[in-house]
Amino acid sequence: VDELTTLKSLKEKAREFRDNRDWLRFHNPKDLAISASIEVAELLELFQWESKSIGGVKQDENLLKKIKEEVADVMIYLLHLCNALDIDLSKAVMEKFQKNEEKYPAEKYKGKYK
Ligand SMILES: [Mg+2]
Repeated sequence: VDELTTLKSLKEKAREFRDNRDWLRFHNPKDLAISASIEVAELLELFQWESKSIGGVKQDENLLKKIKEEVADVMIYLLHLCNALDIDLSKAVMEKFQKNEEKYPAEKYKGKYK
């Protein structure tokens, strides 16, 4: 499993995990969105009172391991939410990039964030 693993196969894995436990009944959109948000908060907690740069975080194996776990937790809840609502995640992301390309043209925003 690496970054070549498609979102489709990750969504299938999430569906299989859910269905093997008969958890679909608990997967209402509100709770899945809340859960994704809680996992983002767990990710933020790792940075509380920290001010490490990218290089600093990369050198901290223990912190990096925890970040990976929380990133995965966030993604898993988003996959469950997309499964529950039949959202094509790849399409949704690509459409959003298209919108952002129009909103922030590279020639106008290169090196600027305002
Ligand atoms: Mg977590």
